[in-house]
Amino acid sequence: MAVSLGEVLAALDARYDPALAESWDAVGLVCGDRDEPVRRVLFAVDPTADVVDEVIETGADLLVTHHPLFLTPVHGVPADDAKGRLVHRLVRAGAALFVAHTNADRAPGCGVNDALAAVLGLRNTQPLERLDDPRAGLGRVGELERPVPLREFAALVAAALPVTVGGVRSAGDPEQVVRRVAVCGGSGGSLMDVAAAAGADVLLTSDLKHHSVSEWQQSMRMSVCDVAHFASEWPWLPVASELLERDMSGRIEASVSRRRTDPWTARVGQSEEPAEPSAG
Ligand SMILES: [Zn+2]
Repeated sequence: MAVSLGEVLAALDARYDPALAESWDAVGLVCGDRDEPVRRVLFAVDPTADVVDEVIETGADLLVTHHPLFLTPVHGVPADDAKGRLVHRLVRAGAALFVAHTNADRAPGCGVNDALAAVLGLRNTQPLERLDDPRAGLGRVGELERPVPLREFAALVAAALPVTVGGVRSAGDPEQVVRRVAVCGGSGGSLMDVAAAAGADVLLTSDLKHHSVSEWQQSMRMSVCDVAHFASEWPWLPVASELLERDMSGRIEASVSRRRTDPWTARVGQSEEPAEPSAG
């Protein structure tokens, strides 16, 4: 018997409680009819035009993305606007769009941060941010099975996450031993103090800024590792996809988008260990 969109969304809400989302966030159903049947579901980090191409090519009935298409209110979705056009294309293809954002970050056990911690092999993980539910919250902190120098940790991160133009950058002594690791998928720079207070040797996150990294390096309290925002959240996709298939007892087919939605497209002038600055 066909599964309705409403049933699939109920299963997603049960895993990624919308009540966990930040007050400024925009999660839930963007477009779609809860009474329509769903056979195929595609998971992606971003609702880009490329990903919508893939939805149409694969005949998916539902696109689940981590990032919202609309984070700020709009008064219309005209097709001559880039985002409005995506809504038109999805509706015309009979595909729904659903967003699980900060609720998926905070979700206990199967969220963005658990998935990131899991691909790095962290054990005994706990949220960095404490909510009423002790297992839910932003970020995770846990232990590596075997302590490694920071440079080896960065290589481990590079091997565990999707390859991106920006690669993996670290700030700290390359020989510093890393055992306790804090992670935060997406922009987790605001969790530096919390990660240090949790005893982390390194914080892995994305979108870190010059001044905050520089100040941390001066204080020598904790190393940081910066990866592409897309790469830090990608590990959630296979976790959520497999879990949804299981929750729906195999009555739907779920898969992960093959499109790389990291917006960076090229890089030049990189160096493994930069020398003194000069005009190049
Ligand atoms: Zn994000």
